[in-house]
Amino acid sequence: MALTALKKNNQKTWIELSRKNLRHNLEVFRGLCGSATPIWTIKANAYGHGAALVAKEIQHTIKKGKGEWFGVDSIDEAVLLRQEGIAAPIIVLGWVPYPRLGELVKYNLRLLVSSARTVKELSKLRNKNKIRVHLKIDTGATRQGIFPEQALAMAHMIRAAGVILEGAAMHFANIEDVDNPTYGDLQIERFTHAISLIEASGFALPVIHAACSAAIMTRPETVLTAARIGIGLYGLNPSALVAARYKKQKRGAELKPVLSWRSRIALLKQVKTGTPVGYGLTEKTKKPTMIAIVPVGYADGYDRSLSSCGHVLINGKKCRVMGRVCMNMIIVDATSAARAKENDIVTLIGRDGKRAVSADELAECAGTINYEVVARLAEHITRIVI
Ligand SMILES: *Cc1c(COP(=O)(O)O)cnc(C)c1O
Repeated sequence: MALTALKKNNQKTWIELSRKNLRHNLEVFRGLCGSATPIWTIKANAYGHGAALVAKEIQHTIKKGKGEWFGVDSIDEAVLLRQEGIAAPIIVLGWVPYPRLGELVKYNLRLLVSSARTVKELSKLRNKNKIRVHLKIDTGATRQGIFPEQALAMAHMIRAAGVILEGAAMHFANIEDVDNPTYGDLQIERFTHAISLIEASGFALPVIHAACSAAIMTRPETVLTAARIGIGLYGLNPSALVAARYKKQKRGAELKPVLSWRSRIALLKQVKTGTPVGYGLTEKTKKPTMIAIVPVGYADGYDRSLSSCGHVLINGKKCRVMGRVCMNMIIVDATSAARAKENDIVTLIGRDGKRAVSADELAECAGTINYEVVARLAEHITRIVI
């Protein structure tokens, strides 16, 4: 299907997004969120999937009254989405350089605030009374956010600065560790305590969010009036433990990977036993080998630590990466793909026939997590929705 449909594609490498699977994951998380507002986190170019493309797909499927939001890291990503015609609420989750805070008004963006300095800078803006902020509380991740005991004072500071305090947020430190819920419990306790103090002082906080994908999938009680969904939207599991727990609890359907990454065979060559392969002569062929050169390398996001470790699919057959990953190409052993021809499609991530290469497999090879594998897919690669 997909592999033949794209025969006409004229790129040397491209990324396909499955509309069907994206919609499936959207529905799964909408179900898990219940009445809470989903904030689709599409930072890091939508985890490598293409921020504008993903946001537009979601916008097209939004049914009236669903109230979806988007969460991004940087002001640049937020501005890009507005320029691409995304009208839904957008919250900037990361730090914004002070001279650019005025763009929050210009583009109607919300901001997660973590510091008194940012509040002070906001207070200097014209039209600041239009800016809606959410207070980020550091309940134990020791990342962004102010400590819970400073939260009430900060709420007053925000009010005095003349901006609108609309919500509060926290982020879990180890929610993926499903067998160890105590720290997450402590974080939630600190969060709810801080919020009750703020509300008792007369502030209304209609948008309160703590849960990320792993929390939504395994601990429904952490979904408050909103939740932030990243990795799960893309059909990838936050961790193997989370996937196993989620499956066991049977609270929602299995997630389906949205992204496939493909290229083509640029060159095929038969080499003899004992032929050194690639930079540094790190590997020699152990048998007569059909070598395929695939024009994708670490500059495209195929990590160099996949050298002699990753594999690709050619005509449904598993083919191992030989030698070092180069900047713009890899060398694979295509011997098992007996009828391979130059220009045949190579699958770097995704399905080809009965087999698939997952972001998880590549992550394991590269000593990282699936998040990093997809988030680092280069922006210059063409993305298409199929
Ligand atoms: C990235 C991010 C998320 C999404 O996390 P996933 O594990 O991808 O669902 C949620 N909240 C914050 C603050 C984030 O930075």
